[in-house]
Amino acid sequence: MSEATPTSTAVIQVQGLSYSYGDGRGVLSDVEFNVSEGERVGLVGPSGAGKSTLLMHLNGLLPDRLPVDSDRASVVVSGVPIRKSSVSEVRRRVGFVFQDPDDQLFCPTVREDVGFGPLNLGLSRDEVFQRIAESLEMVGLGGFENRSTLQLSTGERKRVCLAGVLACHPEVLVLDEPFANLDPRARRALVDVLREFAGAQVIATHDLEFVVELCDRVIILDEGEIKADGPVRNVLSDEVLIRKHGLEVPWELRART
Ligand code: ADP
Repeated sequence: MSEATPTSTAVIQVQGLSYSYGDGRGVLSDVEFNVSEGERVGLVGPSGAGKSTLLMHLNGLLPDRLPVDSDRASVVVSGVPIRKSSVSEVRRRVGFVFQDPDDQLFCPTVREDVGFGPLNLGLSRDEVFQRIAESLEMVGLGGFENRSTLQLSTGERKRVCLAGVLACHPEVLVLDEPFANLDPRARRALVDVLREFAGAQVIATHDLEFVVELCDRVIILDEGEIKADGPVRNVLSDEVLIRKHGLEVPWELRART
């Protein structure tokens, strides 16, 4: 298959993406979809469906061996095919928030962690400090700069991860289970932050209520294949379809008798 010409509004294009972790068992099978500028896409499906594996392909965390220049790339970001030579540029455009903050936070203080990305972009000290302050403010953690990342709640740690990504001014946000292990107030705060972010977002989650609230579109992934892709209300109100893939119709879309 040849690489398609990017459409003007597609910020992410995934084409013919198949992947196996090496034990021969296919985890993703011929996955294809585009994400347009500003679109918020929920990625749902049962555990083990391949959601995290798919997300990790969107900024080149996978495959383990990236395509070289002569190879076809399955993922194109803002017209740039993800290859060995382009992966750093792609990672600047696509901010990735891991499910577990322990996979992301590694500096002793919030300031160092949130500033790590902007510092690596080569920004001046003043600009880095400004971005740290701005992004902490955005996630509701203004003034947390000197706090130890080890002495924060899970919700706060997740928000520090998001602040670190936002501080790099990405075009696209990719979030893996952002609502897991958050209390209701922290979940609400996160929804507000994601609503404010103008770029495209791909959000893997088991929380279908938030998909209804936040996303324009939903993709159901099961056994590594896309089983449905469409407007949230159409897809998630189809009880037969979504039960088949281990999901429940969100409360808001249940037929009221
Ligand atoms: P989901 O995010 O939908 O729960 P994952 O992408 O985490 O699904 O996992 C998809 C499949 O790949 C599962 O069967 C899982 O056991 C397997 N898998 C995930 N990570 C690895 C890994 N590092 N090595 C081998 N198999 C893996």
